[in-house]
Amino acid sequence: MTTLFSKIIRREIPSEIVYQDDLVTAFKDINPAAPVHILIVPNVEIATVNDVQPEHEAALGRLFTVAKKVAQELGVAEDGYRLIVNCGYDGGQEVYHLHMHLVGGRRLGPLLPRKE
Ligand code: AMP
Repeated sequence: MTTLFSKIIRREIPSEIVYQDDLVTAFKDINPAAPVHILIVPNVEIATVNDVQPEHEAALGRLFTVAKKVAQELGVAEDGYRLIVNCGYDGGQEVYHLHMHLVGGRRLGPLLPRKE
C-alpha cells in the first residue's frame, strides 16, 4: 500500500517540504488550522498509533526532535505550540499514515471542547 504521505515523501506529488532526513519528513498542511501547521511524518508507513512497533522508536523519537527544530525555525518556539497525533475514527484521523501535527502562531485555547 502506498499512502498519500508516502507520495509526498517520495516527491511524487507536490507539497511544501520544510525538512527531510532518513527517518522523517515535515511539510506544510494543505488546509492549515493555524498560521503555522506542519505535518511531521515517519518515512516508513505506519497506519496508526495502534500499529506502532518497538522498531519504530527511532523514527517516532525523531518526530519530536524535528518538531523542536521546525518550531524554532518557523518562529513559534518561544510563544508555544501544540503537537497532535490523531488515532483512528474517534480520534479524527483522516490519513492512515501516522503523523504529528505541529500547530501554532496563535493562541490555540483549550485542548478540546467540553462536550460529549
Ligand atoms: P489527520 O486528520 O490527523 O489524519 O490529518 C490529516 C491532515 O492531512 C489534515 O490536516 C489535512 O489537511 C492534511 N492533508 C491532506 N492532504 C494533504 C496534502 N496533499 N498535503 C498536505 N497536507 C494534506
